[in-house]
Amino acid sequence: MSKKGRVFSGARPTGRQHLGNYLGAMQNYVALQQDYDCIYCIVDLHALTTLETTQELTQNTYEMALDWLAVGIRPEESIMFVQSHVPQVTELHTILSMVTPLGKLTDLPTFKEKARQQPQNINYGLVGYPVLMTADIVLYKAGLVPVGVDQAPHLEFAREVVRSFNYRYQTNVLIEPAMKATEVPKVIGIDGVNKMSKSLDNHIELASTPEETRQRVMMMVTDPQRQRRSDPGRPEVCNVFSLHKVFSSPEEVAEIDRDCRNAGIGCVDCKKKLAANLNAHLEPFRTKRSALNENPDAVWDILHEGARRARTIAEETMVEVRAAIGLPK
Ligand code: SF4
Repeated sequence: MSKKGRVFSGARPTGRQHLGNYLGAMQNYVALQQDYDCIYCIVDLHALTTLETTQELTQNTYEMALDWLAVGIRPEESIMFVQSHVPQVTELHTILSMVTPLGKLTDLPTFKEKARQQPQNINYGLVGYPVLMTADIVLYKAGLVPVGVDQAPHLEFAREVVRSFNYRYQTNVLIEPAMKATEVPKVIGIDGVNKMSKSLDNHIELASTPEETRQRVMMMVTDPQRQRRSDPGRPEVCNVFSLHKVFSSPEEVAEIDRDCRNAGIGCVDCKKKLAANLNAHLEPFRTKRSALNENPDAVWDILHEGARRARTIAEETMVEVRAAIGLPK
């Protein structure tokens, strides 16, 4: 069956993935394979704009690849690779940077935010980050990019860069990518306040052991108004309940909803149920991950084979791009 088009998505090598990554992106990556030719890239060059040290870059790339494979990315079907293994992306980045006004880059809210976060390291790569991101997408002529609504301005930026290039060189070799709007649920961390993130240490890793997972779940902040076991709770403000809605059966969710409100269940028992359901849900993932981890060379082979396939597409695009510009052969 022919598929509906090509999708590209990239993520920084952040190592072992957590529930926020899983519910926000990885599940969607797996589902998209059904209908689209998917290209999934671990964007290690992007990571250099903010990393203080590269000591863990290779290991983090490997761990993330393991998680992607274990969750259900099918490398025989989708292309999964590491960004720096396809050098054409840096060539296209340079070329696209010539049609990108500097003011547009420095006006982007993401740049301002990053500059605020690391005032001691406002490097050139940080400014040009959206141009590299555009190069990632258009190099593979991806028609669709799955993004949450909050990332829509980035994609609009990429479309503008493509239009500038095509206009400047009177060509149509680059394709304006369209947004494949996806509902990205905001997964709150165990602190009950902030978005789940490794840097805040409020995350639950997919590859943790069942006991580690249980411990993290037991640390979760619940309804702050529920001080005593006899106080009625409000599941709608409780992050434990949000995760029950994802990982527990509808019957169990209805039961917890009712019992929480009439203080029929305590938070400790409620969390124990969540931990059990979460561990049951993640068990097949963990089994597959452990099996893959027995042979790291095979995981790297998958990434290298993905890069080989990606380079073939990338070089075809670059031949057209160089010709459109009139670069000497
Ligand atoms: Fe949250 Fe469950 Fe406690 Fe209710 S019983 S406040 S849903 S942890």
